[in-house]
Amino acid sequence: MDNPRIADRLDAFAALLELAEANPYMARAYRRAAETIRTARVPVAELVRTGRVRRLRGIGPGIEARLRELVETGDIAELAELERELAPGLVGLGRYLGLGAKRSVEIARSLGVRTPAELRDAAAAGRLQTVPGIGPKTEARLLEALAREAEPRPRRGLLLNRARELVAGIAQALGGEAAGDVRRWRDSCEQLAVVCAAPDPSVTLAHFAALAQIVAVVEEEPRRALGVTVEGVAVELIAAEPRRFGTALARATGSPAYVAALEPLPDAADEAALYRALGIPWCPPELREQPLRGEPPSLVATDDIRGDLHCHTTWSDGRASVEQMGRAAIERGYEYVAICDHTPAVGAVRGLTADDVRRQAEEIAQANDLLAPFRVLRGIECDILPDGRLDLPDDVLAELDWVQASVHGGQRMPRAEMTKRVVEALRNPYVRCLSHPTGRLINRRPENALDLQRAFAVALEEGVAVEVNGLPDRLDLRGEHVRAALRAGVQVVCSTDAHSTRGLANMALAVHTARRGGATPAGVVNTRPLRSILEGRRAVR
Ligand SMILES: [Zn+2]
Ligand SMILES: [Zn+2]
Repeated sequence: MDNPRIADRLDAFAALLELAEANPYMARAYRRAAETIRTARVPVAELVRTGRVRRLRGIGPGIEARLRELVETGDIAELAELERELAPGLVGLGRYLGLGAKRSVEIARSLGVRTPAELRDAAAAGRLQTVPGIGPKTEARLLEALAREAEPRPRRGLLLNRARELVAGIAQALGGEAAGDVRRWRDSCEQLAVVCAAPDPSVTLAHFAALAQIVAVVEEEPRRALGVTVEGVAVELIAAEPRRFGTALARATGSPAYVAALEPLPDAADEAALYRALGIPWCPPELREQPLRGEPPSLVATDDIRGDLHCHTTWSDGRASVEQMGRAAIERGYEYVAICDHTPAVGAVRGLTADDVRRQAEEIAQANDLLAPFRVLRGIECDILPDGRLDLPDDVLAELDWVQASVHGGQRMPRAEMTKRVVEALRNPYVRCLSHPTGRLINRRPENALDLQRAFAVALEEGVAVEVNGLPDRLDLRGEHVRAALRAGVQVVCSTDAHSTRGLANMALAVHTARRGGATPAGVVNTRPLRSILEGRRAVR
């Protein structure tokens, strides 16, 4: 049994544990283990057989036992039973139609159906009304939803990291390419698509339908299918003729407006050939939101990044020590990392007082002795108090190499008040970067009322940068705001706000978000060498 197959089974187990409303931590643990296994460079089945699998990160005795069962018997009995009991195909379809998981299972049980096709037949035969709790109104709504099930509908987008994982897994299994919102690195992904070059589309479509991630296929055409995951997320598969693969990929990647402006697209086997045939330069996917035919800018790349300027340690709410974060940053090829733990006003978690900051300095100095010439910078994520003052005295901030200023509490302030608060903080001579400026949490909290243009104008005067925060549920600033900041002459910092060594990997999310705003290396502070960062605010003027 190979690693992808083992990982798929653990992923399926995680999804069903969630459905069964088991302990959510358990589902998360299985999902994390699946990811570790998918990216492991050694055959995991071998590690299981020789009793060494717990050396892999995130695999404890419980998961080890499941893995042994899977490797020895070819399956996990409890998973097979959950699949029988919960009919994931029906749950996926139900969620896609707007029903909860529990309700989908109840309806399926009461109708005695086991597959999406049987559910559709039962609905067509008028049997939905026999289900307790389904009146004529709900029946009509469901029938209507079933009839137009393949049409795109507004739904909550998937976070970019989750969407990337899902689409990349499917693309890899089918030997295709990720397209849609994921390829443009949209902050919240609604249109998920995979494009394959398929000499025989029936083979590709059958393979797609059999994937662990796809629990039901809700629409099928000769060269296209729409599948849903157990969470009810729709993924489109396009099985293109090989000589038209480039055309299909471009069409499935760009926004409707971008693609429409290029139509009619000529047939091309790859994208390079397509753009040549169109007589325009190839366009990075991140810039395929609005029509663009000209020369795109030379966008910043993850390889240009020389350090991470916002991360946490066990001193506040991080999970790794200063030294561990430093070593993980070295592994990523960085020259520096800034430790920016919280200050007391953050409230929900431990924050550092002036004394703590000075004690932490000793630990950072020790780490620097060990890690030189790599440099751990003394930083802080300092709360901006409601009146615009900072949460630590200036003499403490003055000692630090890097100061992030953050609004955490009181995100709902009216516009004038919020803008005054942030501007006040930007005027503090030690602040280097405004963290997550809009404060939004994707799908959970809207942007605050800050007047960004005003904040950018003051940031420019003061030589303060603005952050592109790479936490998957923040991505703040987002692409359009990055564009506005750069246009105003303000530099951005691509940061991860990592709370673990693993969190440093979110740099790609920050960088690609900046790319959506057209950022070049010159517009991104942390593409600069250490000495430039240490020069202070002059560095960003
Ligand atoms: Zn923060
Ligand atoms: Zn932070």
